[in-house]
Amino acid sequence: MSLKERVVNSAPDFIVKFCAAPYVAGDTKEAAIKEADCLWQSRRILSTLDILGEELTSRDEVEKVVASYLAILDGLKGRDYATISLKPTQLGIYQSFDYCYDNTAKILDKAAEYKNFVTIDMEDSSFTDVTLELYKKLRQKYENVGTVLQSRLFRTEKDIEGLDGFQAHIRLCIGIYREPPEVALQDKKDMKEKLLIYMERLLEKGHFVAIGTHDEKLIHRCTELLQNNKVPAEQYEFQMLAGVPREKIQDELIQKNYTMRLYIPFAEDWKDAIAYCKRRLIANPNMGFYIAQNWCKRLLSKR
Ligand SMILES: Cc1cc2nc3c(=O)[nH]c(=O)nc-3n(C[C@H](O)[C@H](O)[C@H](O)COP(=O)(O)OP(=O)(O)OC[C@H]3O[C@@H](n4cnc5c(N)ncnc54)[C@H](O)[C@@H]3O)c2cc1C
Repeated sequence: MSLKERVVNSAPDFIVKFCAAPYVAGDTKEAAIKEADCLWQSRRILSTLDILGEELTSRDEVEKVVASYLAILDGLKGRDYATISLKPTQLGIYQSFDYCYDNTAKILDKAAEYKNFVTIDMEDSSFTDVTLELYKKLRQKYENVGTVLQSRLFRTEKDIEGLDGFQAHIRLCIGIYREPPEVALQDKKDMKEKLLIYMERLLEKGHFVAIGTHDEKLIHRCTELLQNNKVPAEQYEFQMLAGVPREKIQDELIQKNYTMRLYIPFAEDWKDAIAYCKRRLIANPNMGFYIAQNWCKRLLSKR
């Protein structure tokens, strides 16, 4: 075990829970749906709900997650302001591609029945091929499915070309996973420049783009580009993670008639959320810095 892993794993659960609380909607689907209702009713913000957890290796665990997603879709019936997001490693990709396909298809069938939408999140670069293969195969049968591209990866340019021939629904972000220099850019500034380039390219090709970033300067550059290119409003939206303190810019965007969606993770049990947060902190220590930065921002805004 590395020093980093030892430090994170030895952090008391109550401290991890305290730090994670602003970013996690709670430990029931009702709490997550309530947050989605509240965001829509009070600020006209859309949401996408995600069950925390990944890297599930047993079929029992996977089937529990599938049942939970089906239950969330029941709970979201009639709420056209909330969609769902899920991960291949939650849905059986470790078992086999076909098993993961069948599980995701089950969720998509129910989502289609309720006119809901499903985004397949992108995990680290060892899963990019399989995730895009899963997405493309599902997209042949379902219209209500989208996925994610990460602007830090060198391969993304080719992956955009690989979407030719159908209209894709892509969340575009820099990517949360640390990747080696052989496969990815290492400088955030470069990743953000690429995000702008890829956004323009995806839009030109007629795809829908959900722009996932909290960087206000980048958001302003995106809106400028969208306006200059007269991109129809139905072709894009902005997305952020719930809990990251960006209320001001979110409200500004809504006032200017941009569509804004927040990603709302929740756990079925706080134990899962704590384990998830610890894994994320180990994979990307910047998260610890973000959490501290966001606490300062919240405290200052209350003064
Ligand atoms: C809706 C949504 C869905 C996403 N889905 C995926 C996905 O499927 N796969 C994937 O690899 N990545 C995903 N991401 C993460 C994304 O790739 C970036 O890692 C993340 O948004 C940070 O990049 P940034 O553009 O906001 O810029 P940064 O410069 O990294 O962040 C700007 C500021 O935002 C705040 N911030 C950013 N991220 C966090 C965080 N996690 N917690 C707390 N504060 C934060 C910090 O204050 C930071 O200084 C998603 C992001 C969003 C908004």
